Amino acid sequence: MGLPVVSPFFFNTDNMKLKLAIQKSGRLHDDSMRLLKECGIDISNGVNKLKAEATNFPLEVFFLRDDDIPQYVEDGVADIGFVGENVVYEKKKKTTVVEQLGFGKCRLSIAVRKQEQYTDAGFLTGKKIATSYPVIVAAFLQEKGIEAEIHEISGSVEIAPGIGLADAICDLVSSGSTLFMNGLKEAETILRSQAVLIRNSDLSEEQLVTLNRLLFRIQSVKKARNNKYILLNAPNEKLPEIIGLLPGMKSPTVLPLAEPGWSSVHSVLNENDFWDIIEQLKAAGAEGILVVPIEKMIV
Ligand code: ATP
Ligand code: ZN
Repeated sequence: MGLPVVSPFFFNTDNMKLKLAIQKSGRLHDDSMRLLKECGIDISNGVNKLKAEATNFPLEVFFLRDDDIPQYVEDGVADIGFVGENVVYEKKKKTTVVEQLGFGKCRLSIAVRKQEQYTDAGFLTGKKIATSYPVIVAAFLQEKGIEAEIHEISGSVEIAPGIGLADAICDLVSSGSTLFMNGLKEAETILRSQAVLIRNSDLSEEQLVTLNRLLFRIQSVKKARNNKYILLNAPNEKLPEIIGLLPGMKSPTVLPLAEPGWSSVHSVLNENDFWDIIEQLKAAGAEGILVVPIEKMIV
């Protein structure tokens, strides 16, 4: 009596599948697609469709307006989503923030007319604030104990003071050039935001397995982005000092060079202290320093 032959096609992978909502077009779209690609996930068809299937991972991607993503994830129409924290906090839907994604960085700031004297949030007392973020602004005012009028508008918030609609605005800022062109100045940042992964609260055990696989890949990509691989040559007598400057994942790799008395040192450096350490390495006698990007970092 032989064992039954089970074809892999009998395994139902549908129950492992996650539906991911990302922005259809706009500032988060390209970075969202790039992150999936760097996670080794191939998306089959174009973004002109409403949805696309991953060919090598149990994932289906929905392309939506960013404002709708929290609602879809709360309802379970999508299981997970990539969306700005600003939208998550404004919409206040029942979803959980699982991971910061490291792109879509911006700040939500109060701005006032250039000539205005803004020393603190007390300036806003009794004033009219135009914004597309009434929930976040109301929470900010309440925390500060300030009474002000919030005027909700959906677009072109920055023109409101110029046309006499408001005394101040609260809007997303990256460089500040839009504010400047409208005779405004940034007065106070009330939220720093970046894209995050949110999830629905009732995922199945199987879907959680898929989510953990995805998170593991995202974390590896993020780590790799923040780190550089560094190679340098050093005279052997300088090695202790140079090795002392390098953090490395364990400790740096040291290999002898063909030239007697010299070694090659390899290590990994975090972007944040990168230039500081490079300068110190040069001063300590390192030569031929090479810095290369890391594609994935599995730790
Ligand atoms: P949609 O059509 O999807 O509703 P949108 O016009 O609301 O798009 P975008 O301007 O594409 O949205 O911005 C999407 C998200 O990108 C913002 O909610 C925010 O999280 C992030 N973002 C990053 N930098 C900026 C910026 N400088 N200005 C505005 N949003 C930014
Ligand atoms: Zn939007």
